Amino acid sequence: MINKITTDKFSKIETPFYYYDLDLLRSTLNVIKKEADNSGYKIHYAVKANSNPRILKIIAGYGFGADCVSFNEIDAAIVAGFNASDIVFAGVGKTDKDINAALNTGIYCFNCESIPEMEVINQLATAQNKSALIALRINPYIEAHTHKYITTGIEESKFGINTWELDDVIKKLSDFKNIRLIGIHFHIGSQITRMSVFKSLCARINELQVWFSSHNINLEIINVGGGLGIDYENPETNPDFPGYFSLLNEFIDLYPGQELHIEPGRSIVGQCGSLISKVLFIKNGSNTLFAIIDAGMTDLIRPALYQAHHKIENLTSAGNILRYDVVGPVCESSDTFAKFIELPETKRGDIIAIRSAGAYGEVMAMRYNLRDLPKAVFSDDL
Ligand SMILES: *Cc1c(COP(=O)(O)O)cnc(C)c1O
Repeated sequence: MINKITTDKFSKIETPFYYYDLDLLRSTLNVIKKEADNSGYKIHYAVKANSNPRILKIIAGYGFGADCVSFNEIDAAIVAGFNASDIVFAGVGKTDKDINAALNTGIYCFNCESIPEMEVINQLATAQNKSALIALRINPYIEAHTHKYITTGIEESKFGINTWELDDVIKKLSDFKNIRLIGIHFHIGSQITRMSVFKSLCARINELQVWFSSHNINLEIINVGGGLGIDYENPETNPDFPGYFSLLNEFIDLYPGQELHIEPGRSIVGQCGSLISKVLFIKNGSNTLFAIIDAGMTDLIRPALYQAHHKIENLTSAGNILRYDVVGPVCESSDTFAKFIELPETKRGDIIAIRSAGAYGEVMAMRYNLRDLPKAVFSDDL
């Protein structure tokens, strides 16, 4: 929680920095763990959402697996305590170097996105005298109703194998002696808040299951990916894990012996992080007041990249409500966190919290303008 006590402590720390509320993280993890245990579904945390070593270590402690998109992520996951045998490797453009390293490490499964990729994994596995397990990421053509940059399962997406290619995939599989198909995988987008989208995915999966079984292919794993959204208006709330799990339970027809896998990223780490910043200047614009803060798009790029909205709070003012454009110091007009939002009267030195920044925040930080990377501060240490 962010309150008067935490704010007093923030005032002594150099800004900007990410503040992680580890109690909130643990409470989120407890909720999802309970759902996973009750349903028997297996969780692979999507490391790309937040790969801070301390966060990874806490998540690993819950016994989840990891979903990684580079060998560096696989390595970070293992260092944090995830078992190699619980790691899946996703991504549309895996390099030979990363595939070799993953084979060498003995990860669980490659989520493959094309026939050429299957061919290369088979080649490299043969050269290492190994057999690799693969799941096929299939494009289910489902509109996720989220921002177009985080929509990944529609016809024009670069992700996943098209269903019209599946006949070919199956033919090729018999030639590829060093890979073995164990499942199918989907990931249709991120920050999905319409539950009906997941229901459509379930229906599509059921159809594909019929197709695979008519081709005498036994699938051990159905992996529905991640994508469950969080409530950016209410930063202290958990996502609707119970609703999500019961929807999957109700609408996916699992065959006997099949396991269901889920890859949540944002829904686990989104709410526990806030970007804490100080106001540098208040500047008069023609139509607005600018609150220029010391955090910028280099620290949190989501608003510039996806037109994302984060709740912004002035932690140190209780003045009259005015309207501000909250902007960063970076030399780009897209370095804007919010336009014309209500804040209590804000002045130089006030502490600003940009909430729900735990996912796709610190991991996307960069050094444009040669700015320092933001540091991380943990509630357990305050
Ligand atoms: C990014 C990603 C996820 C996690 O998505 P969230 O929206 O953060 O839950 C899961 N699976 C794959 C394959 C991904 O690329």
